[in-house]
Amino acid sequence: MNREKILVIDFGGQYNQLVARRVRECNVYCEIYSYKTDLEKIREMKPKGIILTGGPNSCYEEGAAACDPALFELGIPILGLCYGAQLMMHTLGGHVCIAPVREYGKIEVTVDRSSRLFGDVSEKTICWMSHNDYIETAAPGFETIAYTPDCPVAAAQWEERQLYAIQFHPEVLHTVEGTKMLSNFVYQVCGCSGDWRMDAFVENSIRSIRERVGSGKALCALSGGVDSSVAAVMMAKAVGDQLTCVFVDHGLLRKNEGDEVEEVFGPNGPYHLNFIRVNAQERFYEKLKGVEEPEKKRKIIGEEFIRVFEEQAKKIGAVDFLVQGTIYPDVVESGLGGESAVIKSHHNVGGLPDYVDFKEIIEPLRDLFKDEVRKAGLELGIPEKLVYRQPFPGPGLGIRIVGEVTAEKVRMVQEADAIYREEIAKAGLDRSIGQYFAALTNMRSVGVMGDERTYDYAVALRAVNTIDFMTAETAEIPFEVLVKVMNRVINEVKGINRVLYDLTSKPPGTIEFE
Ligand code: GLN
Repeated sequence: MNREKILVIDFGGQYNQLVARRVRECNVYCEIYSYKTDLEKIREMKPKGIILTGGPNSCYEEGAAACDPALFELGIPILGLCYGAQLMMHTLGGHVCIAPVREYGKIEVTVDRSSRLFGDVSEKTICWMSHNDYIETAAPGFETIAYTPDCPVAAAQWEERQLYAIQFHPEVLHTVEGTKMLSNFVYQVCGCSGDWRMDAFVENSIRSIRERVGSGKALCALSGGVDSSVAAVMMAKAVGDQLTCVFVDHGLLRKNEGDEVEEVFGPNGPYHLNFIRVNAQERFYEKLKGVEEPEKKRKIIGEEFIRVFEEQAKKIGAVDFLVQGTIYPDVVESGLGGESAVIKSHHNVGGLPDYVDFKEIIEPLRDLFKDEVRKAGLELGIPEKLVYRQPFPGPGLGIRIVGEVTAEKVRMVQEADAIYREEIAKAGLDRSIGQYFAALTNMRSVGVMGDERTYDYAVALRAVNTIDFMTAETAEIPFEVLVKVMNRVINEVKGINRVLYDLTSKPPGTIEFE
């Protein structure tokens, strides 16, 4: 497909996926590539524009991440951000060095509104800065179009050559008018038309899946999570009952979740796919007996999941396509796209099943960010409840129960979690808090209920806000909501006599509680 696109060239900065997301929010498709990508390859992709990201290096140092100087001769508009800006200046003959005053945080920048980049931006605007180096003098040909008291060149342009450099980070939401600036770049400078729209994407995907699958058979592991659900529905719309979905209920799902998945995808749901629900609860509990170590639990659950899936696949026999809910961050993080190190191998299903007999893999969501997957889901008519489901780890409640997992403990955490979610929704906070859930601690303590001594478990409530899941802060839930949850949990959930609120941020904590 000949979609117009922007390339984001990754120099290893922390906000790089954010750059791509912001561009896509402007309805312009973009992809992330490492700075090591061949110039020839870049030319062949015919991008409408290129964005160079931030990065940890100092561009004047030996061995620093660099780019082919010929990149600036391609005639393609280029926007350098932070490290990318410094590198552009350094490469083209400007002077970059360590800044006398480092800037970090929100800083007021004065911009030249006659630049196409800043056309509709306020003259004084708050921007997010994060740099040790600075551009002391811009390269010949460039004019300065923004400054701060400590940063003589906060932005520069060479208009005829369509080269732009910005020292701050427009992709970060703290830069109040950052999205405007990126939008100005892609529309005013690069001349994009804005053809990246979810309705068109969904329609085109369905058509191309249909062509690719022909009369073949496809198999999909459905977890009930957002990604695999959207992938399954897209497949179902494309090939109907040529698709078989296997849903493994490992007994570690949230309360009623197994039934909810069946309601949507099962025989009485709106999609005509072959749906197989495997109730493997007992099998998982058996395997998890006596196991306390979190990594070990994760492994056992992941492996057992694959075994169950394989058994079903064997019964189904050879299929042509295996469907996976891979999304774009998985692609970037597994080292295929950008520059960031391999952080994790794909965590969707926990690895490829060995004994499933298939010819090809279909990954219908591999170009999408999470928020785009949700939009695609809505476009496909999937119920909001499912589309806005919170991220849920593959090993499920297995890693929200500290220590040994038992059916009884699963019941407790399910009940407590359901109450917690219900109250959060009632308070109208369900869309504003990033992630929240209940976890069962491994602690029992003494309490008194109805004049009787209890010796029961403590449940921990967790709620965090995060932009990128790399860092997170505790969400400030109104005290009366917490108290209400506490009351209900103690009254309604047998086996729990204490409710704690976890205040830990990430780092040093993690988002999960295991
Ligand atoms: N490492 C460069 C500096 O410190 C660039 C930083 C960045 O891209 N955020 O100035």
